Amino acid sequence: MKIWNPDVERSSREKIEQLQLERLQATLNRAYRSVAFYRETFDRMGIIPEDIDSLAKLPQLPFTDRKTLMENYPYGMFAVPLREVVRLHCTCGPGGEPVVIGYTRNDINHWTQISARILHAAKVGKDDVVQICLDYGLFGEGLGFHYGAELIGASVIPGSDTDPRRQLLIMRDYRTTVLLSKPSFALKLIAAIKENKVSLANLQLRGTVFTGEPFSETIRRRIEGELKIKVINSYGPPEIPGPKIATECEKKCGLHIFEDQFIPEIIDPQTGKILPPGEKGELVVTTIAKEAFPLIRYRTGDLTVLDFSPCECGRVLVRMHPVIGRTDNMIIVNGVSFFPAQIGNILAKIEGAEPHFRLIIDREGTQDIVDIMVEVSEDIFFDEMKKLHQLKKQIEECIYQTLGIQVRVKLVEKRSLSGAESGKIVIDKRPK
Ligand SMILES: [Zn+2]
Repeated sequence: MKIWNPDVERSSREKIEQLQLERLQATLNRAYRSVAFYRETFDRMGIIPEDIDSLAKLPQLPFTDRKTLMENYPYGMFAVPLREVVRLHCTCGPGGEPVVIGYTRNDINHWTQISARILHAAKVGKDDVVQICLDYGLFGEGLGFHYGAELIGASVIPGSDTDPRRQLLIMRDYRTTVLLSKPSFALKLIAAIKENKVSLANLQLRGTVFTGEPFSETIRRRIEGELKIKVINSYGPPEIPGPKIATECEKKCGLHIFEDQFIPEIIDPQTGKILPPGEKGELVVTTIAKEAFPLIRYRTGDLTVLDFSPCECGRVLVRMHPVIGRTDNMIIVNGVSFFPAQIGNILAKIEGAEPHFRLIIDREGTQDIVDIMVEVSEDIFFDEMKKLHQLKKQIEECIYQTLGIQVRVKLVEKRSLSGAESGKIVIDKRPK
């Protein structure tokens, strides 16, 4: 069994909980001292960090969520001065509002260690050539794994998540053995292999680590079958300082949460009450090793189940099921996530478009296809075709520029969608 940090990963429940309590108390003290949001919220509730003298008292603390982060944009949630921050990354909120995440040098060290743990669980070693087909920009996914792969001693190719044909040719010529990507990129790669008539015999690929979006077991089996590889899944919401909070092991029976760095809880999303292990609910995460951007009881919006039973791999770290669903209506198409409200915000700014729309999502081959029906004001709808065409193109362009997704817009008469129930705003026809 390949375990990067056996002292932690094969520790005992008792030792892990002792470490968690020590780190939680240090985190609470730092957050209370340095972050106005935490200090004011705790004061209002009559809580001081010393009150939380056992893990059982964690549920006494208030939740945080995306809204908290957006309201404190850009640096309000930072617990260290900017001179101690060595890296800034960003993610987007439900309305497209940015959230800035900072890292100290220690945070980057923890990040590197975590990505090494994930890659080690995927049996990546010094002899591997690792091609990272993830975004290397502000969102930080590519860099997240880059450092860990270098620490392990693998040969790292900083690729990209665009142009699968070019990445395929690099993969063939550089003799890549491990791919790091979103599952949607692996599907594009399979299409590129067929289009370019590249034989699998000319590729050295043996494994891949997936990140960034949930995928079904059907998709996993298809990718493993078509590329003749093993797939390992990892998980981490983008607003929790990276790179990830959990990884599968070779047994593929859930994702081990890095409990020395994060405390997971499962709550009823309606009442906020803690649910017992084994029950499905919303995952809440408290970071206990982050200096710059500590998050206390952060509501991820992801629905899952925790499993504390021992894993055959030897790790004692709790496992979470792959994400089952969302508490909100976040949508992921071709690896890009967005909220329907973001489409409404874009339409509200375009003259002639009404804020009523319907999204129809389907899959053609390996691509998710998004059609959007948009109501237009009456005077424009009955105007000349050229104007309608311009409006359609303008909406498609605005959505692409703002959200990074390509859509096909169909303009419809005013009030033809207005009566739709909120549940009908999105129709997802993609096979599961
Ligand atoms: Zn395991």
